Amino acid sequence: MAKFSADLLVRQGRLIDPTHGTDARLDILIRQGKIVQSAPSLPAPPDVPVLMATGLVVAPGFIDIHTHLREPGYEHKETIQSGTTAAAAGGICAVAAMPNTIPPPDSGDHLQLALERAQTAVVRYYPIACVTVGRQGRGALAPLAELAELGAVAFSDDGDPVQDEALMRRALEIARDLDRPIFPHEEVKSLTAGGCMHAGEVAARLSVKGMPAAGEEEMVARDIELVRQTGGPLHIAHISTAGTAQLVRRAKADGLPVTCEVLPHHFVLTDREVERQGPAAKMSPPLREPADVEAMLAGLADGTIEVIATDHAPHTAEEKAQALTRAPMGIVGLETAVGLTLTYLVDRVLSLHEAIARWTCHPARILRLPGGALTPGMPGDLTLLDLAREWEVVPEHFRSKSRNTPFAGYRLKGKAVATIVGGQIVYSELAA
Ligand SMILES: [Zn+2]
Repeated sequence: MAKFSADLLVRQGRLIDPTHGTDARLDILIRQGKIVQSAPSLPAPPDVPVLMATGLVVAPGFIDIHTHLREPGYEHKETIQSGTTAAAAGGICAVAAMPNTIPPPDSGDHLQLALERAQTAVVRYYPIACVTVGRQGRGALAPLAELAELGAVAFSDDGDPVQDEALMRRALEIARDLDRPIFPHEEVKSLTAGGCMHAGEVAARLSVKGMPAAGEEEMVARDIELVRQTGGPLHIAHISTAGTAQLVRRAKADGLPVTCEVLPHHFVLTDREVERQGPAAKMSPPLREPADVEAMLAGLADGTIEVIATDHAPHTAEEKAQALTRAPMGIVGLETAVGLTLTYLVDRVLSLHEAIARWTCHPARILRLPGGALTPGMPGDLTLLDLAREWEVVPEHFRSKSRNTPFAGYRLKGKAVATIVGGQIVYSELAA
């Protein structure tokens, strides 16, 4: 059987589809990997397996548009297979993979190599290609049109900004013509160099160099201005400050094609966590101040922030055991993001529908991906949620090769309990 091309009847779940405003107890039928129909009661065609979803929410397959799978080049941290297995276990049906690999996908050949490796993926894999050759942020643009033709869904030098303004302007012009967004990591390196956490009271107390909010906001402001001039689509990776949220809010009010995402740790944790946990809470952009967390919640609530993503960034225990100033940036997120969303956002700042939209139809729209809704003919991807399930984050149980999380021991309420990609059950905690 071809990959992601299975038959399945999912019965009696609470079907929630934000695109169509659906919220009802319905059966849903998938044939040959595609959604056929949903109805209060569907007979099971012969040979079609049945999955009972009584008491569960059945949502369109969740999409993580910001994942680091580390392959090729850093397979000791993660592989496409281990990372996508972690995605499946976290309820994620599709990932968009960031290009900081060795080699980075900055040419047709390099992108082809990544796509060949991605045969091992257990969920859908979409490559994000580089903006510049070698992810240098200066020098030459990567061949964006060729990369788009080969399947790149967006362009990013993630981990690093596109420092050269003329290159960024040209990239946005090409992105406009290709109808694929530039997806930048916004950072003014001259303001953040040597920083290992947010520049604030806690960094001062720990006597370490901080990364000021301006180090993010000044580059966001520059790029929004370039969008105003070029009309190129911009999806800003992982916003973390109140100032950035306000810049995006204004850009959207001006009708610019600007969108952004937030990561769970930026709406749950503050820089105090660095004092408690050290390198386990070190990432870029860093954990900020309580007012910034409030701004992330407000940005989610008013629609300024349309996407939640993971920035899943695996590192080995040895790497993260180094001193705060030396340890690498980043935390894993694929196996905790859905639980954190359900625990910290739903019925506090977002309705369940709105939270699901931020993982499904919004990311699908921004990266022009198939899926994100339960429309007949669309990919048969489903995420099944148990809203009542209370569970503890135990990093030793992660499917990811890496365990670098600041959420160890957290008690969460709500969990993805089955993940279906093209009618194929790629993860399930349900009794057979
Ligand atoms: Zn990233």
